[in-house]
Amino acid sequence: MGTVSKTGFQCLKCGQCCQGVGGVWLTTLGALRAANHLGVDPSKFTAQYLRPDDGLWLVRAGVDNNCLLLGPEGCLIHAVKPMMCAAWPFFYGLLSDKFVFEEAKAICPGLNNWDWERFKIAAPKDPPLSFKKRLKALEGLNELKKLT
Ligand code: SF4
Ligand code: SF4
Repeated sequence: MGTVSKTGFQCLKCGQCCQGVGGVWLTTLGALRAANHLGVDPSKFTAQYLRPDDGLWLVRAGVDNNCLLLGPEGCLIHAVKPMMCAAWPFFYGLLSDKFVFEEAKAICPGLNNWDWERFKIAAPKDPPLSFKKRLKALEGLNELKKLT
């Protein structure tokens, strides 16, 4: 049984939100952190799990359609997982559109006992509108740090 977050949301660790291709990005710093967490060489890590995408790193999915970082016990990089994975299910789409929220309930058993009004009240304040945009800003900052 998963732990209950500050919002009251409890992840049941079913792994269903880790299925499907695309949508999970890391900055270079995030990729280095993940490689370090796994104790593997960063270039081997990126070659095995990621592909470059629009200035960021996109986490690849396997032939089974699961995220390649999903292991038998859950996320292999749980402690340092990507920003959007850590924020789920408090995404802008679910917070702004009841229909999207209801669709998400169909894949996430952790949302079973939630209704949309309670979900919106429990959400962290100022959830990022676009994780990708925020990551790109962070990546820009990383590049800047390299130059200064
Ligand atoms: S990085 Fe981890 S939490 Fe995110 S989709 Fe992949 S397995 Fe799931
Ligand atoms: S779908 Fe929901 S309950 Fe299942 S692992 Fe993802 S967040 Fe947890």
